[in-house]
Amino acid sequence: VGKPFDQAAPIIHTLNKSGYECFFVGGSVRDYQLDRPIGDIDLATDADPYTVQQLFNRTVPVGIDHGTILVLLNNESYEVTTYRTEGEYKDHRRPDRVFFVDSIEEDLSRRDFTINAMAMGLDGNIIDPFNGQQDLKLKRIQTVRHAQDRFNEDALRMLRAVRFSSQLDFFIDDEVVMAIKENRSLLDAISVERITVELTKMFGGIGVGKALEYLKETKLYQQLPVFQEHENVFLEIYEQLREPIDNQAVLIAYLHFIEPSIAISAWCNAYKLSNAVKRKATIIHEAFAQHQTKGLTNNLLYKLTDEHIASWNDFIHLVEGKSYDVSELYSMFEQLPIKQKSDLAINGSDLIRICPERKKGRWISEYLSELEYQVLRGKLPNQKDEIERQVKAWNQTEQD
Ligand code: ATP
Ligand code: MG
Repeated sequence: VGKPFDQAAPIIHTLNKSGYECFFVGGSVRDYQLDRPIGDIDLATDADPYTVQQLFNRTVPVGIDHGTILVLLNNESYEVTTYRTEGEYKDHRRPDRVFFVDSIEEDLSRRDFTINAMAMGLDGNIIDPFNGQQDLKLKRIQTVRHAQDRFNEDALRMLRAVRFSSQLDFFIDDEVVMAIKENRSLLDAISVERITVELTKMFGGIGVGKALEYLKETKLYQQLPVFQEHENVFLEIYEQLREPIDNQAVLIAYLHFIEPSIAISAWCNAYKLSNAVKRKATIIHEAFAQHQTKGLTNNLLYKLTDEHIASWNDFIHLVEGKSYDVSELYSMFEQLPIKQKSDLAINGSDLIRICPERKKGRWISEYLSELEYQVLRGKLPNQKDEIERQVKAWNQTEQD
């Protein structure tokens, strides 16, 4: 059935040899049939998690309580989960406990959507008890069993429906849309972290316009952090956004661009994003402002560094409809006289040596930034003697 699956084949062979079943399940089976790039490969088996642990050399019990063992094989990792159903759902989130079951069909029946509820053997045979294949053809998001019940069990599934409509550019079945309308308030029971995962994937999908339409139609956006207090921000994005945003920092910079009164840190806190995302979004935003006034300068590329250049360029495209050739940006960056502070031919202790009469203080960092700036502008070569001469001259005029 092709490369990523073949690489996981030893897992299936090993389990089969010991008398157990094992299939590929979930997203990879869906994406394989759609001819989309395959993400993580998950497997399901009737072997219990302890047996799975014993059969393979390198395993991590990532979710042993609900039957999931990570199996490591040739630099890849695979989640192998024992067939299970889920117990009662008390709070519209996760089940209180899971029950291991005997058949793959029972396992598939706990899954959210028909297109996610298929299994595949090594021979490429598809097990499809809920007509997922038909829904793939129709490009339809349909729940396994009644949408009402499934959303009551786990309210996140409502947002997942919208997320898949974006990623796959599928429509959501009418009854499912109705059930989202009726049950949207249940999303309040869901942790921000799980919401962030789905919303991030939604913004990154080719059908993001369609997904925003569903969020508006069902009013599900009124259940989302920030948007629930700032309806106008959602509506603005709904009007404006036509292309996917596949990077969290670019997304945050964009949201801040749409509504400047909501700070980048406010978005990041509301969605519990990391400091790394916060930092990157801030750099993108500052570089954007600098670009608007001064254009593409060495200083701008230096500020971005090769780490953020591509994302900043994506952002420019998002808000201005045009962008630079990213490989040109990289080669300009490569030609910078210095790429980071430590590339400067002189450092703080050199400055103290050059100006022995001065006490340590702010002047050191001020001199260093000015030197950086002059070197980047090409006004000063990055050479120790030249810089030393310049520093002495500045020092002289300041003493006078
Ligand atoms: P992606 O390619 O984005 O990872 P995926 O289909 O693999 O998509 P995951 O969130 O990784 O989605 O979940 C893996 C599988 O587990 C799904 O295909 C689905 O069968 C099942 N699943 C995940 N979350 C839920 C849920 N909340 N309710 C029911 N089934 C779920
Ligand atoms: Mg997955």
